[in-house]
Amino acid sequence: MLGKKTDPEELKKALFWERKNAWDYIPESQMKRLEAYMKDYRSFLDYAKTERESVNTAIEILEKAGFEDMRKTKDTKKIYYNHHGRALAIFRQGKTPIQKDLKILVAHLDSPRLDLKQYPLYEDEGMAMLKTHYYGGIKKYQWLSRPLALHGVIAFPDGTVDSIVIGEDENDPVFTIADLLPHLAGKIQMTKKANEFIPAEKLNILFGGKPFNDDPKLEDRVKLNVLSLLNEAYGITEDDFVSADLEIVPAGKARDVGLDRAFIGGYGQDDRVCSYAAMQAIIDTEDPEVSSLVLLLDKEEIGSEGAAGANTWITELVLGYILARHGLDQSSVVRRLLANAECLSADVNAGVHPDWKEVHELRNAAYMNGGLILSKFTGVRGKGGSNEAPAEFVAQLRNLFDQHDIIWHIAELGKTDEGGGGTIAKFMSYYCMKVIDAGVPVLDMHSPFEITSKADIWMMHQGFCAFLDN
Ligand code: MN
Ligand code: MN
Repeated sequence: MLGKKTDPEELKKALFWERKNAWDYIPESQMKRLEAYMKDYRSFLDYAKTERESVNTAIEILEKAGFEDMRKTKDTKKIYYNHHGRALAIFRQGKTPIQKDLKILVAHLDSPRLDLKQYPLYEDEGMAMLKTHYYGGIKKYQWLSRPLALHGVIAFPDGTVDSIVIGEDENDPVFTIADLLPHLAGKIQMTKKANEFIPAEKLNILFGGKPFNDDPKLEDRVKLNVLSLLNEAYGITEDDFVSADLEIVPAGKARDVGLDRAFIGGYGQDDRVCSYAAMQAIIDTEDPEVSSLVLLLDKEEIGSEGAAGANTWITELVLGYILARHGLDQSSVVRRLLANAECLSADVNAGVHPDWKEVHELRNAAYMNGGLILSKFTGVRGKGGSNEAPAEFVAQLRNLFDQHDIIWHIAELGKTDEGGGGTIAKFMSYYCMKVIDAGVPVLDMHSPFEITSKADIWMMHQGFCAFLDN
């Protein structure tokens, strides 16, 4: 209760929710650490463009911070578990008994992209081309007329697996999907709806153009030439494409955006911005009371199905391992621990775009520079297909973040009738735990160049540390 206040301005201050700009609340003394964090984060984005590269890059960072491979140590203080090379679980033991409480941060490492088909290579009009099958929700036209890189692995029948990255080094060639010139696009393209503008079967990569020799009667001599170059460099034949996970992603590095460098632009920030923050939080927490688990998973962008996604046993598997090392191997212990756990599903929300405000309900939207975003629920039209965090859990986090000077607000993804989306949260709620979505707003989400605010990333990082530490 406020007592008797009659000054309306004073009363407003006490009663109204006030929108804050996170930059106003970052002390000058933190700016050096903030910029150092952003530099490391940009570099993570540069090396971690696929889920597998993200796992490998994360493991390098974790090992430097003293975390050990769970399969190689009996200790459970600071460990990680590499799941099929495409998902990662990170565990840090707290002071309270291991079977009692658990804090979880869960995020995803996969991003929308173009996958190569299994028989991708063909020659047409003297050019070698690659067929693609897009992965996740993309606006197909955004992938035309830009430098693209090839990342992935090729698995051979003898059991060896080779990694491949072409298009990131400045001396590398890049690839592209050439669009149609405007002069001839009037009828065939420009009158179409945007989702028909470029059919998926025209998302073909320009891969080469030199013939193998000067014999014009030799069929497919450009295709032969690129295959022989691939064979020279990687020992592969056309058959080997069938046992490969090859992804086409935007070429080039993440960059600061804006004259004042307020933003970061780069590919795959949904959800590597949260994955990176979750990993850094479990590294940075000083001496946590409660044990913490960070899960960085695959396949969120296509519904979290698949052996390295959230809709699997990975959580029970990892906790089962850890509890067994403490002589607690009954599955009921795992279940009780999970049901008691608290979880932040670390994923991004849609930042209000100054030119497209009409898709948001502005009182309940995520705005750039507004700090950490909580989403009480996700889903589509009437909260369909989502989990909803209970009021008590929101109250607990409100208290936590306010006590730690974290600037945050709560937001929905777009107007109620407009659309929506889901996250990993509902798969964690399956274990009966408390879970809520927490992340940062993104402009131009799912595009080849997504935009985030450094102030928001900083607040998220501080918020995740406070969550694991308290
Ligand atoms: Mn996401
Ligand atoms: Mn997404």
